[in-house]
Amino acid sequence: MANSIGTIGVLTSGGDAPGMNAAIRAVVRTALHSGLKVKGIMRGYSGLLEEEIVDMDMTSVAEIINRGGTILYTARCMEMMTEDGQKKAADMCRKHGIEGIVVIGGDGSFRGAGALAREGINTIGVPGTIDLDIACTEYTIGFDTAVNTAIEAIDKVRDTSASHERCSIIEVMGRHAGYIALWSGISTGSDAILIPERYDGNEQELINQIIASRKRGKKHFIIVNAEGIGHSTSMAKRLEAATGIETRATILGYMQRGGSPSCKDRYFASIMGAKAVDLLIEGKTNRLVAYQNGDFCDFDIAEALQMTKDIPEDHFQLTTKLTR
Ligand code: ATP
Repeated sequence: MANSIGTIGVLTSGGDAPGMNAAIRAVVRTALHSGLKVKGIMRGYSGLLEEEIVDMDMTSVAEIINRGGTILYTARCMEMMTEDGQKKAADMCRKHGIEGIVVIGGDGSFRGAGALAREGINTIGVPGTIDLDIACTEYTIGFDTAVNTAIEAIDKVRDTSASHERCSIIEVMGRHAGYIALWSGISTGSDAILIPERYDGNEQELINQIIASRKRGKKHFIIVNAEGIGHSTSMAKRLEAATGIETRATILGYMQRGGSPSCKDRYFASIMGAKAVDLLIEGKTNRLVAYQNGDFCDFDIAEALQMTKDIPEDHFQLTTKLTR
């Protein structure tokens, strides 16, 4: 099929996620192999508005598949949330001959992508966020690395927590979504998982659980707390006062965003990045690349942003069955 477009742009936006570089590499090389020109847009939408746009070739993306972060940098951009900003962004694309654009980021970034599509720029989104919180897709680039970083850290805290017979609260990322907490909590055999989707603030229940388990002879207690619940340090003080058991908080923070991406993140990023370019070549716009039921597919961005998903209740309930 003849290419309907000649030049595409690629940007990363929102929070960085391990595997974004692998996605950029796949976009750039798939496009070049198909005879397209590629422009890299620095610092997300702010770089587009500020004309921070560079030509990319095969070597621009050499030696990055194994690197965390994003070589294009990322930024939050308030101006892109305004109609004027969106028009200016589309004009900037036209000025630089960018007829199609791949946006790698989370749901906020896709709202920007949808706006660009409405302004006449062919736009495809690729889900890159450690939070796994894009409803239309079962996988988002960065989640696997982030959750594995979290379990490595939790395992280490568990060793010292067990030695000191302590209660440990470990705070993981996830302001609105508890997927990192759920997966890392279950995978480290944690005793309690507090996530924004479910936690009702009932600390007394937690206190009773800790006291009861200590009475049964349990030496240490691990609570995985999602960032959206937060306040881990003050919670530790309150739990210690109520249970008499030494309680410490560890906030994992930004380390969960970094590091060399896992095989799964590199693989998904490569497939999704390439698919985004194929969609642009087919003349598609306003689509979001997704993974569902073992297949890579795509959705209308507006429809995708309307979709909702929730933590599987049976997975969440498993914590109480698996702890002692
Ligand atoms: P993460 O899930 O990692 O936080 P995200 O893509 O959701 O990633 P946001 O900060 O929500 O991160 O959005 C990134 C950028 O997308 C914003 O800084 C802004 O430039 C653009 N954006 C967000 N919401 C909108 C919107 N409603 N309309 C246009 N652009 C938007």
